[in-house]
Amino acid sequence: MKVTQQGSRNFEAGCVVWLTGLSGAGKSTVAQELRQRLSDRGKSVFVLDGDIMRSGLCSDLDFSPAGRKENVRRISEVSRLFAEAGIICIVALISPYQEDRNSARRIVGTGRFVEVYVNAPFEVCEHRDPKGLYAKARAGQIKDFTGISAPYEPPVKPEVELLTNESDVNGCVGKILEYLAVS
Ligand code: ADP
Repeated sequence: MKVTQQGSRNFEAGCVVWLTGLSGAGKSTVAQELRQRLSDRGKSVFVLDGDIMRSGLCSDLDFSPAGRKENVRRISEVSRLFAEAGIICIVALISPYQEDRNSARRIVGTGRFVEVYVNAPFEVCEHRDPKGLYAKARAGQIKDFTGISAPYEPPVKPEVELLTNESDVNGCVGKILEYLAVS
């Protein structure tokens, strides 16, 4: 688990914490725990979960590279609105392409975009399989599944990297809080 780069930013004034990683890496779990810890401290916080967005705003999109790009674009735009409203917006989204995450950073604004690589070995994610998706993908029931039949490009230079196989949820969330330097 490592933390890189930290300016003297005021993330509490609104920012986007963008959690990227394989299915089962721990994005949703970390997002919910982070939301709880921030709200316990009286911060304004909101979670945009990729699965929920897929069932609503993005329900017309597929999992092709173009579909994923548009998915990331819409969620970036929404997260930017939250950040502009002074909210810490936590995005939990596989977002497998570096180029798309770079676009998200541009849309949100570099100074308030915190890319968090939620990293666990592929084998661990497949073994966890919290939603049974790996089993379905292996059985050929899901196409374009990240890590099996679609690529995942690890972040080149994330602000924070979490090794969820080596550190528990509290430790991972603590690392993000440390980076955000919230009071
Ligand atoms: P994702 O949202 O990335 O698809 P989930 O959060 O739904 O992943 O599932 C991750 C699974 O891994 C959960 O069952 C969670 O309890 C487990 N897990 C074990 N260690 C960690 C950790 N350090 N951080 C997050 N999740 C963890």
